[in-house]
Amino acid sequence: MIRLDKFISDSLVVTRKEAAEIIKRGRVTANGQVIKKADYKFQENSVVIVCDGKEICFKKFIYIVMNKPEGYVCSTQDKKDKTVLSLLPQEYLNKGVSPVGRLDKDTVGLLLLTNDGDTAHKMLSPKSHVSKKYYVECDREFSQDDVTVMRNGIMMDGKMTKPAILEILPNKNTACITLTEGKYHEIKRLCAHCSKTVTFLERLTFGNLVLDNTLKRGQWKEISFYELKSQIE
Ligand code: URA
Repeated sequence: MIRLDKFISDSLVVTRKEAAEIIKRGRVTANGQVIKKADYKFQENSVVIVCDGKEICFKKFIYIVMNKPEGYVCSTQDKKDKTVLSLLPQEYLNKGVSPVGRLDKDTVGLLLLTNDGDTAHKMLSPKSHVSKKYYVECDREFSQDDVTVMRNGIMMDGKMTKPAILEILPNKNTACITLTEGKYHEIKRLCAHCSKTVTFLERLTFGNLVLDNTLKRGQWKEISFYELKSQIE
């Protein structure tokens, strides 16, 4: 059983107080009947809840994709730098949304955020082999030797890196690199091993999620669990 104010607060991502106000104003029906009591309890999935004429699907967790801008860090708090969380409305922070893994302060592109700890854990677990594709610009041209080095792996933090796929683009200072793990600064360290400095780094994919180019840097949108689900089963 769930309370109506909690259901509205979770599903519409509003505070409990705002949810109670919406209910008090008679904007919510349960199986067609107006309910004005915030503490009305019901069994999820067995009652149709409608707010302002629109059926509400119960949302247990929140999933967000962001086009991370440069200059923001992926930690939840930071004394010196702006965090990616500061780009979200407070309601999302109240519900415990945080980044799934980290991108460096100067890295841009696809970032997933959620308050679903289990899913976040699965997405990051080496066992899940969730791939991540990056677009990279370097100060020097990539070579076929670099393709071999990255595929064979290098010693990093006392272990060999998993095969990384390097696809050199027509401008040979640029490439796409796909990883199936996420060691600290992995792309920059792989490139440094090949005597190159990364000058621009953008994440394009995370599992089957693809950076939505309609999102400008710093913009974000909610996605459903079903858009993630297949890669962690
Ligand atoms: N590899 C890096 O070096 N930096 C990132 O932000 C992500 C992967």
